[in-house]
Amino acid sequence: MLIVVQKYGGTSLADADKIINVAHRISSAKIDGLNVVAVVSAMGDSTDELIRLAHTVSSSPDERELDLLLSTGELVSSTLLTMALKTLGYEAISLSGSQAGIRTDTMYGRARIDSIDTARVKKEMENGRIVVVAGFQGITDNQDITTLGRGGSDTTAVALAAALEAERCEIYTDVDGIYTADPKIVPEARKLAEIGFQEMLELASYGAKMHPRSVELGAAFNVPIYVASSFGDAPGTIIHEEPDGSQMENRIKVTGIALNTNVAKITVRSVPDQPGVAAALFEPLAKVGISVDTIVQNTGSDHTTDISFTVSRTDLLKAESEVKLVMDELGTDSGTDSIVTDSTLASVSVVGSGMQNTPGYASRMFRVLADGQINIDMITTSEIRISCIIREDQGEEAVRLLHRDFQLDKGE
Ligand code: ASP
Ligand code: MG
Repeated sequence: MLIVVQKYGGTSLADADKIINVAHRISSAKIDGLNVVAVVSAMGDSTDELIRLAHTVSSSPDERELDLLLSTGELVSSTLLTMALKTLGYEAISLSGSQAGIRTDTMYGRARIDSIDTARVKKEMENGRIVVVAGFQGITDNQDITTLGRGGSDTTAVALAAALEAERCEIYTDVDGIYTADPKIVPEARKLAEIGFQEMLELASYGAKMHPRSVELGAAFNVPIYVASSFGDAPGTIIHEEPDGSQMENRIKVTGIALNTNVAKITVRSVPDQPGVAAALFEPLAKVGISVDTIVQNTGSDHTTDISFTVSRTDLLKAESEVKLVMDELGTDSGTDSIVTDSTLASVSVVGSGMQNTPGYASRMFRVLADGQINIDMITTSEIRISCIIREDQGEEAVRLLHRDFQLDKGE
């Protein structure tokens, strides 16, 4: 029997009527003869509410307790959805992440999945049940509950699809697919029928709303991911292995423009220009699970160097205190001015696998930004992406200008 994993986001489950609507959608997949595993997010903004509540009793809530608290949001939606399915006459059962066999490491708030023991989920499916799994959570070897980071239910869904060798993973949300840019910023943005994993990974990491780790998993285990709306039947976007012939010269070169406003920059001034300094700076950040994005190093004339790098704004305080420790260890004065932070930045990215080996895209992007009087603070590139760090208040304008210049509103 074919297995499909369907993930429903918080807005699709925001109230009782929406939960019943989701139950109907799941039941029609069941009627089509598929074995359905549903993965759910917490209802509406309830995760934000729980975080707010935690901060009313503590200025820095204990990480273990916070994760256990946040995991309850997904338990509410999974149990309610299961009750709704049973009321419609379907056999169904809800499972917490730990009951579904999802093992993680011990990084509270950003845990990574180590393995999934699918025995229980499979047993329930064999008994003809629809299995509803609480997303975004797992359990450590010490039986502590962890969460996977904001938006982590996408990752639960793709990981389960991979472990169950499902046909595909369907992600139902409040947008009906992947667009060439955020339609709220660019009204003429176009919905893509399909996109390659690598392109989607770049878009998801740099602004499009999908948990990037879910796309990474999809690529690693070759699980096609279908993204569509839970509110209608409009065709969505399939994310899959690059279709054959995608490198042909007549292919559209740029696939999409992404904007990420969760960007903060840290500049460390006048560190010694000698081997080991970058390692000393970035190793502790890696250890506490902070990922660093754009890095720029400038060599000064006096055997010292300035290093600037970006992290997500949510990691800024943690990153700053790690950097202070390193500076103290290096014997560098960590007083005023030697560490400067800026959290008014954004990154705008042009993404497309067709850009590989084709010169001129970077300069074209810089020209568009220059003509729009948008200053570029930092630049990074991958084979299929060019990103510029700019001022956040110019971010949306940058997306509109680039979308127009690369003519992304014109179909394939
Ligand atoms: N409920 C969690 C969050 O809001 C996880 C998710 O929605 O995927 O971040
Ligand atoms: Mg949510």
